[in-house]
Amino acid sequence: MSVTPLSTVVLDHRFARELPEMAVAWQAAQTPDPRLLVLDEALAAELGLDAAWLRSPEGVGLLTGTTVPAGAEPVAQAYSGHQFGGFSPRLGDGRALLLGELVDAGGRVRDLHLKGSGRTPFARGGDGWAAVGPMLREYVVSTAMHALGIPTTRSLAVVATGRQVRRETPLPGAVLARVAASHLRVGSFQYARATGDADLLRRLADHAISRHHPGAAEAEQPYLALFEAVVAAQASLVARWMLVGFVHGVMNTDNMTISGETIDYGPCAFMEAFDPATVYSSIDHGGRYAYGNQPPVAEWNLARLAEALLPLLHDDQEQAVALAVQALDGFRPRYDAAWSAGMRAKLGLPGSADQAVVAPLVEELLVLLQAEHVDHTSFFRSLAHAGRGDSGPVRRFFVDLDKLDDWVGRWRALGPDPDAMDRVNPLYIARNHLVEEALTAATDGDLDPLARLMEAVTAPYDERPGLERYAAAAPPDFGAYRTFCGT
Ligand code: AMP
Ligand code: MG
Repeated sequence: MSVTPLSTVVLDHRFARELPEMAVAWQAAQTPDPRLLVLDEALAAELGLDAAWLRSPEGVGLLTGTTVPAGAEPVAQAYSGHQFGGFSPRLGDGRALLLGELVDAGGRVRDLHLKGSGRTPFARGGDGWAAVGPMLREYVVSTAMHALGIPTTRSLAVVATGRQVRRETPLPGAVLARVAASHLRVGSFQYARATGDADLLRRLADHAISRHHPGAAEAEQPYLALFEAVVAAQASLVARWMLVGFVHGVMNTDNMTISGETIDYGPCAFMEAFDPATVYSSIDHGGRYAYGNQPPVAEWNLARLAEALLPLLHDDQEQAVALAVQALDGFRPRYDAAWSAGMRAKLGLPGSADQAVVAPLVEELLVLLQAEHVDHTSFFRSLAHAGRGDSGPVRRFFVDLDKLDDWVGRWRALGPDPDAMDRVNPLYIARNHLVEEALTAATDGDLDPLARLMEAVTAPYDERPGLERYAAAAPPDFGAYRTFCGT
């Protein structure tokens, strides 16, 4: 067995070094009785960490922040954020820590970060803890998103701490070890801007350019190029969410990254019946973060990023605003292009299919799906069968068969490629009832349902016998699903 002694794990602290005003040195709380629940061994290998060693007491110490290599300087990061539209100038890592940055096997710099590691100076009224269920939810959904090819922060491990945490009922506590390209958020820029320290804002922008959008450094206006790069990354990301039916649930500006990775799996869920008004979060009464609102909300958040960046865009405020507005105008066309290309792929349409024919066909389809409450994921996967000549599987979902048959006829006339469809339309997503089933069992100590769910969602496009129930929509008695934040 090869081992990775702690001394060979090199954790840099570049964020803290370059942006000390936004980093508070802090230590993780002790864990009374740590027990590793899940470990992503493939991710460990990517990071150059030995999985067997990570399972040892010393490795679990790293995964909970209680044992860090010499030279590591864990910090809680400061950030601000618009939460449901209201600005909070001081949020920050209330129960999280950046352990440091490591260089992975591919030479990329990755943050190693913890969630649920105890109160920090940013905790406000929070207890600093996290419960097993919500940390496993982040583990499952982020891993499923990665398997779908969607940019996301990753989950390396979840460790049960042996500490009871108080929620509505006492629950087992846990720490999630998370890996990200960085934890820079729109809210990080809002924080730097709110300090009024122009030098800090510039250093933050330089740090972001260097880590995520190095091409911007070569541009005539690097900070404008940075903003454009974030606009492009987010337009592409949110299009991916929409195409797979992902509802983030809490798109506050502190939960939107500069890298373009999905972050903070709180009240997130995958939509089943297609409906733009779909909301799962128990606190999202107005539907601000409903499925269909995600593109305009992303654009709104990017406008907040632009505001934070204004002093870097031009000395003259009016000219700075004009530049920002022009760059932000790039969001919609980029989003539309990414979404349309993705939808053509979901429908298996060749490049030769005329967009003037495809666009209204897609519009019609969405109206049909919504009117008949059709399961989004099952529909697209079943449609490939219709492409092969068997409309039976897709007809199951509809009452108005005349409309469907007419639509399928026109779609087939465009020459769809069913095999290509199966490569982009997942069969297995992290369905809400399956996630709940797995988390409930895990909270009670049974990790088997979680393991089976992970088996399904980590190879979402490959149909396998025995996994039929992982491809099926929730049973009707599952009811209206609700999710909760910050637990
Ligand atoms: P989130 O909804 O997870 O993005 O968190 C929003 C803010 O609340 C962040 O500043 C978190 O660090 C903080 N927070 C959430 N839950 C807790 C908790 N249990 N203890 C301390 N801070 C928390
Ligand atoms: Mg957050």
